[in-house]
Amino acid sequence: MHAMVLNKTGSPLQWTELPDRHPGPGEVRVRVTACGVCRTDLHVVDGELAHPQVPIIPGHEVVGRIDALGTGVLGLALGERVGIPWLGHTCGVCRYCRQHQENLCDHPLFTGYTRDGGFATALIADAAYVFALGEEGSDASLAPLLCAGLIGWRALLIGGEGKKLGLYGFGAAAHIVAQVAAWQGKSVFAFTRPTDIATQAFARQMGAIWAGDSDQPAPESLDVAIIFAPDGALVPTALRAVRKGGRVVCAGIHMSEIPAFAYDLLWGERSLVSVANLTRQDGVDFLRLAAQIGVVTRTTLYPLTQANQALEDLRKGAFEGAAVLVPEVIQATPDTGIEHVH
Ligand SMILES: [Zn+2]
Ligand SMILES: [Zn+2]
Repeated sequence: MHAMVLNKTGSPLQWTELPDRHPGPGEVRVRVTACGVCRTDLHVVDGELAHPQVPIIPGHEVVGRIDALGTGVLGLALGERVGIPWLGHTCGVCRYCRQHQENLCDHPLFTGYTRDGGFATALIADAAYVFALGEEGSDASLAPLLCAGLIGWRALLIGGEGKKLGLYGFGAAAHIVAQVAAWQGKSVFAFTRPTDIATQAFARQMGAIWAGDSDQPAPESLDVAIIFAPDGALVPTALRAVRKGGRVVCAGIHMSEIPAFAYDLLWGERSLVSVANLTRQDGVDFLRLAAQIGVVTRTTLYPLTQANQALEDLRKGAFEGAAVLVPEVIQATPDTGIEHVH
């Protein structure tokens, strides 16, 4: 197998040939056909998350087909198309696991962070944390659902019932959440980097009734605001935008420091919460709903070998929606030995 490996945080991923592993008990091996690029991958590469572990293969929006089954795997078949999310394993015994909060497990493994992920031609996954994807939709179009979609969905749930929803940062997650929220009958207000009119137009296409600059006041008082952009300065901004009793949800795994703000912004029973990881139930619920609604994703494809470029483009905001890595097919032929075919 081949992978884009992070050997040292803060340095580019390196194209590396690795031995094919056999799945252990309860594991499956998946041939990767698409892997989304998430902002969390950038935080992993930049060394911004606690306890960085290297070498590691990033990538946690993985779509592929099972090509080897470990012993004891039930309910999954060779050749089946599956998705592998960020939540790679939980302990099953800590207080959180026992209380249906496995997203907060004390001893978890996360795909592409503490166990090898999908910036690769193959990976080994714990079969209990793999979602069957069926055959509807292309591999690349489904990949962003596995984190951007899932975390967005969980943030939407935590945000509660309010009808007027603000989304701060309109990237991969927001473009999926906007469609779900619109389907639920919510009014979506999209806040982007100032003067980013291209993304604002994209947000309107994806169901937002209003789109504007994040440094401008909201046109109406919001019930809920979800912050996807990793910018702590947006916390007081979003608190200012929500009504009394309103809620601000921070959906990213990492955020720059939140500037000090007057207590007045929180007063009035406004609440400020974060969303961490996902549960398997979130995945089951969201993937079913996404299929039912007919969620569409805007993807920009990159060959797996260009993962560094995809990460840099994500950093710069060079594309709308999500970047997806597609492994080059490596074929051995009798005449030419190894040849690379896009
Ligand atoms: Zn646990
Ligand atoms: Zn992610």
